[in-house]
Amino acid sequence: MKIGSETDSHPAERASGSIAALRKAAATCRACPLWENATQTVFGEGSAKAPIMLVGEQPGDQEDRMGHPFVGPAGQLLARALAAVDIPREQIYITNAVKHFKFELRGNRRLHKKPVDAEIAACYAWLRREIELVAPRLLIALGATAVRSLLGRATPIMANRGALHAYAPSISLLITVHPSFLLRVPEQDKDDEYRRFITDLKLARPFLHPN
Ligand code: SF4
Repeated sequence: MKIGSETDSHPAERASGSIAALRKAAATCRACPLWENATQTVFGEGSAKAPIMLVGEQPGDQEDRMGHPFVGPAGQLLARALAAVDIPREQIYITNAVKHFKFELRGNRRLHKKPVDAEIAACYAWLRREIELVAPRLLIALGATAVRSLLGRATPIMANRGALHAYAPSISLLITVHPSFLLRVPEQDKDDEYRRFITDLKLARPFLHPN
């Protein structure tokens, strides 16, 4: 399966065809400036033949230090939500649109900074190859950066969430919020927003075991 196109000059195009080979090549990627200040590349993880691939934005502070996606507070919330809809994490593949942590320093704190379009576009070459190799039946875009990367254009989340969209032959796309959004909403809205997130994720469950 070939999705979209990139030039062969990107290291993702030169890496041979396995997730392990991609991960190894991405460890030394310099295709945009984000590698310079981050600790390490945080590549996707999970089943290499997963029917469902979740795509987040970028690693956060803890992910950058530990080298694994979705291990910080947003990841813990996501794990709780996946368990609530009976989607085992070991049966899916989890990655990010951007593989290096982008931040600004405030004193000793590293505050998350949103990747710009050029950084998202540079890192899409890795995501595109992950999709080709894993060949999921469903992509779940968590938040605006993931949607921007997958669709190549800004797309409103709230107007498009909670429905299955056609993405590519044999691949559907489910759009929902990033779990970090649920951590940021005012306290009085948290339960409602979590329930909406669960309602969205329930649409993914049939893709684990089709027919
Ligand atoms: S963010 Fe992506 S494209 Fe940029 S250096 Fe890291 S792996 Fe390469």
